[in-house]
Amino acid sequence: MTRKWAINIKPSIVIAGGGIAGLSTAIALQQQGIQATVYDAQDPNYVPGAGLGIGSNAIQALDKLNLKSAFMQQGRSLSSIQFISAKGRKLNTTNFALLPSNEAQYISILRSELLELLRSKIDDPKNTIKYEKKCIGIEQNQNKAILRFQDGTTAEADAVIGADGIHSSIRSQLFPTSRIRSAGYSCWTCVISQLPDGIDDKYATETWGSAGRIGIVPLSGGRAYWFICINDHMNKMAIKTLDELIEHFKGYHSSVIDVLRASDPGQISYQPIMDLQPMPQFTKGRIALIGDAAHAATPNLGQGACQAIEDAVILAKEIGRQSTVEQALRRFEQLRMKRVNKITRVSRMLGVVAQIENEFITSVRNFVMPMVPASFNNKQLEFIYRVDFND
Ligand SMILES: Cc1cc2nc3c(=O)[nH]c(=O)nc-3n(C[C@H](O)[C@H](O)[C@H](O)COP(=O)(O)OP(=O)(O)OC[C@H]3O[C@@H](n4cnc5c(N)ncnc54)[C@H](O)[C@@H]3O)c2cc1C
Repeated sequence: MTRKWAINIKPSIVIAGGGIAGLSTAIALQQQGIQATVYDAQDPNYVPGAGLGIGSNAIQALDKLNLKSAFMQQGRSLSSIQFISAKGRKLNTTNFALLPSNEAQYISILRSELLELLRSKIDDPKNTIKYEKKCIGIEQNQNKAILRFQDGTTAEADAVIGADGIHSSIRSQLFPTSRIRSAGYSCWTCVISQLPDGIDDKYATETWGSAGRIGIVPLSGGRAYWFICINDHMNKMAIKTLDELIEHFKGYHSSVIDVLRASDPGQISYQPIMDLQPMPQFTKGRIALIGDAAHAATPNLGQGACQAIEDAVILAKEIGRQSTVEQALRRFEQLRMKRVNKITRVSRMLGVVAQIENEFITSVRNFVMPMVPASFNNKQLEFIYRVDFND
């Protein structure tokens, strides 16, 4: 059994993965008086692409990390997401101001900017975040958890937090039966330096049609990012260039074509969309998984990064509160399991509806969507934006 720590003896923690989950956790632990070390596989100069939409639940979490005002300054506040048919007909709107949460807001930001904001809050970042440290194994005994790195070195601590993303090496070792699932579609994303004329910069749009889905999300400074999801079997036509994407969406309304034409082909990134089959457990002894390592969801609800930040706040609080690390990690798991797994399930289902390609079913969906009252939509979303930090 682990020792209890006295008020002034804090547990030592190491974090594998310096993405949104890992850095948020390091900040939240700092607030508990714990200086965790973060190990990331990447080169320090690596800049991840594209943007994120961050909902009010995560903004409340960022507030707890004392990052809210810097975040709000850097991001772009959006009033709503409008859902549009391929021909440009408005189908439905999620209006954030109408959501029942007291702080209904939605902010878009570049992923790299959010990571930079998080890094700016880390004390002594040079010693706290170690780059080019790829974790390849983990062990634990009665007293310690030990991370092993590709370069032959190790790091040991009272607890290890696995924040190493959807392809987590820690998860595959801890829970070898965990399963990454294909969503059945792939995603292209790109940041554009200037939103084309005629596209409103106050709200985001998602255009749903039988050839695929395209989201246009304004960012601060007149910029924007777009994402495209196309069902995988359509990729048989092997879309490899921007021109082929433009050709693929040629029947869509003009804003879609305009943002694609405004894009630099060199900035487009591509990835197949996957999620993690909800797991019954994401902690074991002195080791906890958080963020995508524990509960990667498809991006349809725009909640993966948001849940990672929530995880960080709640995990650190439990570590500060419970008398052993095992108890803290177990309590964290109990507090988070139901919520994060529901988000994974709902997000996956939403993707199925959004990616319908059958013309007839698409037209039925597009006929029904405008009739769904805003109050119904808001009710469905309420569970996302209302978050209990177990204060
Ligand atoms: C197309 C797309 C759009 C999205 N849009 C949104 C959105 O609008 N809103 C939202 O909230 N979420 C969104 N998400 C989800 C979001 O990107 C993820 O949920 C979020 O990045 C999870 O953060 P993380 O820190 O857990 O994992 P990651 O961001 O994957 O970070 C993992 C970190 O671990 C490091 N790492 C990996 N392996 C190792 C290893 N072996 N050893 C050490 N370090 C390692 C990586 O270098 C990385 O820094 C989107 C996802 C996709 C794919």
